[in-house]
Formats: sequence, structure tokens, C-alpha cells
Amino acid sequence: MHPTSTATTPLDVLREVFGYPGFRGEQAAIIDHVVAGGDAVVLMPTGGGKSLCYQIPSLIREGTGIVVSPLVALMADQVAALEAVGIRAAYLNSTLEPYEAQAVEQRLLAGELDLLYMAPERLVLPRTLDLLRRARIALFAIDEAHCVAQWGHDFRPDYLGLSVLAHAFPNVPRIALTATATRATHREITERLELGEAEHFVADFDRPNIQYRIEPKDRARDQLLHLIRSEHEGEAGIVYCLSRKSVETTAAWLNDHGVAALPYHAGLDAAVRHDTQVRFVREEGIVVVATIAFGMGIDKPDVRFVAHLDLPKSIEGYYQETGRAGRDGLPATAWLAYGLGDVVNQRRLIDQGEGSDPHKRNARAHLDAMLALCETTACRRVQLLRYFGQESQPCGNCDTCLAPPKVWDATVPAQKLLSALIRLERERGERFDSGKVFDLLLGKVNDRTEASRHRELSVWGIGQELSEREWRSVLRQLLARRIVEAVGDFGVLVPGPEAGPVLRGEAAVELAVDRTTTPRSRGRARSGADGARAGSRAADGLETAERQVFEALRTWRSSVAKEKKIPPYMVFSDATLVAIVQARPSSTAQLSAVSGVGAKKLEEYGDAVLEVLVEA
Ligand code: ADP
Ligand code: ZN
Repeated sequence: MHPTSTATTPLDVLREVFGYPGFRGEQAAIIDHVVAGGDAVVLMPTGGGKSLCYQIPSLIREGTGIVVSPLVALMADQVAALEAVGIRAAYLNSTLEPYEAQAVEQRLLAGELDLLYMAPERLVLPRTLDLLRRARIALFAIDEAHCVAQWGHDFRPDYLGLSVLAHAFPNVPRIALTATATRATHREITERLELGEAEHFVADFDRPNIQYRIEPKDRARDQLLHLIRSEHEGEAGIVYCLSRKSVETTAAWLNDHGVAALPYHAGLDAAVRHDTQVRFVREEGIVVVATIAFGMGIDKPDVRFVAHLDLPKSIEGYYQETGRAGRDGLPATAWLAYGLGDVVNQRRLIDQGEGSDPHKRNARAHLDAMLALCETTACRRVQLLRYFGQESQPCGNCDTCLAPPKVWDATVPAQKLLSALIRLERERGERFDSGKVFDLLLGKVNDRTEASRHRELSVWGIGQELSEREWRSVLRQLLARRIVEAVGDFGVLVPGPEAGPVLRGEAAVELAVDRTTTPRSRGRARSGADGARAGSRAADGLETAERQVFEALRTWRSSVAKEKKIPPYMVFSDATLVAIVQARPSSTAQLSAVSGVGAKKLEEYGDAVLEVLVEA
């Protein structure tokens, strides 16, 4: 602990150093356990507050807390955020000059560090282990511990080497933390990191402030632009795309339409990528368009929306990516657009991929769960949480809760589509992709010779009661339910394993009516300002007059951040600004009671904040 500090209990540290009034959920139990020297495995959703679980024990226990993190690029920011609240932190990684690294090592050996960050590949070097043996170590925190899971979506071979800690430092507590909560990953973390004796803490995985919305792709970019303009103007967000090319074109398109967007993918120069991360964190209102290479470890609390323009490969990935929105607890949006093409392409990618059969089965199961989430007409959150083994009630803050989808009986169209596939194959020995199947059902003449051949089929033109767009919706939903399957290089359609009962008339097919306009949240309604400019979603809970004060504080914060060359949220988070507006303190004593205002920040910014409040 810092020599000038007088705090001793975890709650004292929380209040004095971080300025928060109380612990959340399991934090207190986890911290007590680790302070007492126990090992822990912590499963907590993104934004749940994992960092404090090892930061506070590191401050209380004698010695330095060693934090293992996979993201070298972000260590500097993590350290800066700790220094901003008066904690003595540093990092060791390849970006340091040798003399800088040496200085950090000296501080470690002299007992002048509360926390030290490093990447796993560095930690397991004999030289590093030797250094650590000569230092006093408070604990080892293994962040993003799911990186050890070989079947997971973020596997990092270097994490496997971390089991060495169990043997090299048997008396130092270890705490492994992750936001991935499936049983398989949980087991792998425990086994591979040799945490057999550890206590397990599984937090509530719900992120109630995130509004989950999934809509059919129509013109995806226009839909995205509408979302940004109507709900997230000027706010920070992440847009995920599958390919590097679509990352580039989408970012360029957004810029053309007045949105400050930056592309990010593994094919870009390291310096450019670094610059993008830094700008995203430091500046306000930047939208990053990225492949899934972007995001892990970015501790930016005020990301207001995460959008997916392509279907994620698994619910784990989706939940982790969307979890990057709204870590500060303020309203945020997770929005996904997906279409018929996504379903066909993703299945094809798996079928034609390199992997072994068990690997493909695993990938298919992941995709099917994701599709089921997309096509559910029940609460999205109930389904998401159930995937992580948690039962819950309809949430009232997802698209299906806010505007329950209309369902219709699509048994007859489903039967028509299936019969068309069967006739084609039986009478002609042919299989068609979706476009040609629609032409056949609609009796559409694109190619005269083909048409004259197909006209003779009894199924020619039997589907004219629906438009092509409606047929696309039907087919997409039938694919998701495996009533139809798309196979081979060209995605030709065949009846799926669930087709039998539908054809025999034993099972009705209830489908949702597609819609592309989704509801705005609760919260907004409370302000009663109909037709007012959308403004910052962070301020959703504030009255109109209060919003002006909030904006004044934000402006002040921007200028301080610029002057100090730190990200705005390191001055104060949006959540803290909202709390300040609501508390309207008129003295430093009152201000210090606001959540997020710790001793150091009070001293640094207290007077300036009170001045802004007087003037606003
Ligand atoms: P995670 O690592 O689990 O994604 P973080 O540790 O980054 O989450 O915490 C998310 C946000 O919540 C941070 O802004 C953090 O300061 C804040 N936070 C964590 N614990 C508390 C608490 N007990 N009270 C108030 N804010 C908290
Ligand atoms: Zn819901």
C-alpha cells in the first residue's frame, strides 16, 4: 500500500482510493478470499468490476500484484488509469526501452510498486521468473483467463505456460478472471492453470443496462446509420464486420455520411492499429469499424453501442463483444443485423473449413445457438443468460420485450417451399440456390429457356402470395430451424432434418414477421421531451435542464483531458458526471460523497467541478 495512505480494510480502500461507496455483487467476498491468501476463479461479465478484485488485494497485501494480460498495447492505459487514482503501477513489455524496463525492475525489487502488468510470454521467461523470486509478490492475477481454453475463441498458446506459477510460487495466491462463462471454458481454466484448490465465484451474468436488439438485414449500412443518427449521435461505438474488406468499405462509407469512423483489422500496420486504439480511448465520439481482432482488454467504460453487421460465430463471442458497451452501467445498445446470406455463408465456411470433424461439429453447434437467439420471438436476454446456465424472467429491455414480434402461420408456405425442392430433385435431378428457388416459386421469368423448362413443373409459380422479400424472411427462418439446409459450394437448398413433420402436416410453422424499425428504450420516455434531439444516451436518466449541466461538465472534462493528455474517462466517467449532476454538490465535502470521486481526484478537480456547477 502507498506509504501516504491510511486505508486498511478493502472497504476503506474502495472509498478512499476509488471513491466508490460500496462493493458490487461478489466483489467483497472475492477480495476477502484473496486478501487471506486463497486462490480464486472469477467468472464475471464484462463491466462487472473484475479489476477491483485483484487491485484491492494487491494494495492490501504486502508486495506487488502481478497482472498477466494478453494485451501489450493497452497496458500503458491501464497503468495511467491506476496512476490517476494514486496507485503505484507499471508494466513490463516489449514497447519499453531496456533502460526503462530496468527502472521498472528496480522499482519492483525496492517494493515501490502496488501493481505490475505483463504479458504471459514475458512472465514465463526464466529471467522474469528469477526476477519475481527476488521480489515480494502480493498475488498473481490472470486476466482474460479464457485465453487458456483451446477450443475457445481467443486461444493464446502462451497462456498454457502459466501453470508454472502453481509450482514456482506455491504460497502466492492466484486469481484467474474471465467474462466467458460456459461450463467447458470454466473447466479448462481450472485444469490448465492448476487451480484445483481455488474457490469459484460465478457472478450474475446479466448486463441490465445493455439493450439487445437483432433485426433482419435489409440495407445494413443504412440501418446502422439510422441507429447512430437517431440514438447515438456523437457517441463512441464499435461496429463489427466479418471481413477486412467490409471493415474498410464500411468505415469509408460512414465517414462519407458524417460519422467519425476508423477502420481496424489485423492486416493494418501495427502503428496504425495502435493509433486507432489510442484515439478511440482518448477522443470522444469515435466509431471503430473492426474485425473481432479489436476490443479485448479495451477498458473504455463509455462505449455506448456495439453493432454487428455480420452474424457472430457463437454466443460466447457475441456476448463478449456486446459486453464492451456500457461498462459504466449507463444505457447502451447492442445491435445486430443479419440476413439469409449470413446463415448460408457461415454454414458453408464451417463445412468447407480445414478443421477436424469434432471441430466442425463444435462450430456448427455454436452457430446454431447463435441462430436460435436471432430467431427467437421470446426475450433475448432470457435466452442469452440461459446459455450461460442462468435462468431469468423477461427483461423489458430487449427488442422482443419492448415490441413483441408478430407471428404468423407459415406452415403452408414452408410446405410449398419444401415441395418445390423435392419436385426439382425428383423430376429433374436438380438442386437450386435460394435465388432460383424464389424465381420458381414466384413464377418469375429471368431466363427464357430455363423458364419454359420450369413452367412444366407443378410447383411453378405456386408461391405468388408472398413477395420475394417475404420469401427471404421465410427461408432464413426455416434455415435457422433446420427445416431447410443449404449445402455445397453454391449453397443449394435441400430439405433439412426437421422437414419431415412439416411436410406431413404434423408440425405447424410459426414464424415472426420481419421488421426493421426497433424501439427506443425506456429511460428516454421518462424525460418526456418528445421530439427533442436524441443527445447523449449516457444522459438518458436526466431531465432536460440537468442535461445542460451534464454537457457543461463534459466540456470541462474534455479540456482537462486534452491538457493532461489522458482519456476523458480517466478524469471522471460519464457515470460519475451523471451522479454529480443529480447530487448537485455545493461543497467539496458533498462532492466527495459522489460515487467515483476518490481522494486524489477530489483534490485535483474538486474546485473546478464546483465552479462549473455554479456557472451552469
Ligand atoms: P470488467 O473488468 O469486469 O469488465 P471493470 O473492472 O473494468 O470491469 O469495471 C467496470 C466499471 O465499473 C469500471 O468503470 C469500474 O470503475 C466500475 N466499478 C467497478 N466496481 C465498482 C463499484 N463497486 N462501485 C462503482 N463502480 C464500480
Ligand atoms: Zn427481454
